[in-house]
Amino acid sequence: MDLFAKVDAKSYEIHGRLLICQICGHDEFHRREAQLTTAALSFFNLDWANASAICFVCEKCGHIHWFLPK
Ligand SMILES: [Zn+2]
Repeated sequence: MDLFAKVDAKSYEIHGRLLICQICGHDEFHRREAQLTTAALSFFNLDWANASAICFVCEKCGHIHWFLPK
């Protein structure tokens, strides 16, 4: 399975604003959910267990935009 198949990419709104890639300005992303590891949790200075993040991978340049649900 190709995780980066073009058909999967689409535009998303975050808090009512269109998500735009910080690097290349593209507006289509692949949405992924990622379980945060202990190392990631300490990196972000978080202390809750089993946190998961939403990430949007730019379809054009591959830059990952991370979001931590509150
Ligand atoms: Zn990009």
